[in-house]
Amino acid sequence: MSIIRPTAAALLALAVATPAAAQDLRASLAEDMPELMELYRDLHAHPELSFEETETAAKLAKRMRDLGFEVTEKVGRTGVVSVMKNGEGPTVMLRADMDGLPVVEQTGLPYASTETATPASGVTTGVMHACGHDTHMAGFIGAAQLLAERKDEWQGTLVMILQPAEELGLGALAMLEDGLYQRFPKPDYAVAFHDAAAPAPAGTIGFTPGYALANVDSVDITVKGVGGHGAYPHTTRDPVVLASAIVMKLQTIVSRESSPLDPAVITVGSFHAGAKHNIISDEAKLQLTVRSYSDESRNLLLEGIKRVARGEAIAAGLPDELMPVVTVEDPYTPSTYNDPEFATEIAAEFTQRFGEDRVMEWPAVMGGEDFSQFRRAAPDDVKSLIFWISGTPEDMLTALEEEGKPLPSLHSPFWAPDAEKVVATGAEALASAALELMPRSGG
Ligand SMILES: [Zn+2]
Ligand SMILES: [Zn+2]
Repeated sequence: MSIIRPTAAALLALAVATPAAAQDLRASLAEDMPELMELYRDLHAHPELSFEETETAAKLAKRMRDLGFEVTEKVGRTGVVSVMKNGEGPTVMLRADMDGLPVVEQTGLPYASTETATPASGVTTGVMHACGHDTHMAGFIGAAQLLAERKDEWQGTLVMILQPAEELGLGALAMLEDGLYQRFPKPDYAVAFHDAAAPAPAGTIGFTPGYALANVDSVDITVKGVGGHGAYPHTTRDPVVLASAIVMKLQTIVSRESSPLDPAVITVGSFHAGAKHNIISDEAKLQLTVRSYSDESRNLLLEGIKRVARGEAIAAGLPDELMPVVTVEDPYTPSTYNDPEFATEIAAEFTQRFGEDRVMEWPAVMGGEDFSQFRRAAPDDVKSLIFWISGTPEDMLTALEEEGKPLPSLHSPFWAPDAEKVVATGAEALASAALELMPRSGG
């Protein structure tokens, strides 16, 4: 990602060149913005954890109902589906996610969250919209307002969904399993955006044709051994040494077995064993995150992990009944694929609307997004696109450029995006994509 900052002159030239329809949509949005920012600050101050987004869902469901959508709540536990039928035409689904994170906010914003919650772990924590899902929701409502006002400019079926539990990677699947594509019109197109802590001015749109985000697998390995006294290792089978060998050998799956042209990651994020200096334990536990793009690459990594764990245990002299146990968490978050032609078509519309300086192709990342599930559930029918909107405030960008100060990442307790730019860009982008995909036929 390069740092590209439009000059004032370039921005002025763009404003002059902006087509009339863009000006029209933008003018309506400008009127809505103060109220949308009020909504944003309210959402930001009251985040809720995954699958607990009940107040958020109720608040937004009411707004959608007031706009004339047919609204169904509690789809996939806390999800909300809003449908607006407007004549013959394609079905377009727009999505925003609703959940906050167990993070104690440290932005110092006047509307910072002071909410707390007790997640499944049992430890009470602060809750924060540290991933920016509040910007997604405010932008989503902005788009809903623009489209509801402009029913004479589009034709088709608009399905707008508020998804729970993106952070667990489970919310999209929960909605699909609750009949999203059976109880409601199945989309031809699915579109969403995510804010980004990117080295580009706030409001810059990044898009990635093809694979955009990775398969995310969580893998647990229980390494067994034979415990004993630390002074007499020859009477034991030390699981710490064995697990260490496994950790090192796992790195060769990516470096020696996977194609260098096919991105892959195996990270051992947690390694726990033992209780005391002089005791050799009888177990070690490893927790891994495994990232890939294609199904083939995912299988290669997961099979490799199982083989390496077993092979190292055999080399350590462990009997069959003490082989390591490898568990792959189910379900996993599949990779997100932006249909290249579709992504390019929408990006062209965005470029025309926002100008070349604000729309650019960004490289894929190894993070995950369960938005992928909406395409994966019906890959022959649903074309999907998720795009990024930079939320990086001016001062952070200047500190990066001048002092090399790193940007806070999403999920950081310090992530305070330039929400106004993200919400305005998100609302206009979602609405214009829907208008582009559902043109009014016959004038
Ligand atoms: Zn997140
Ligand atoms: Zn997120």
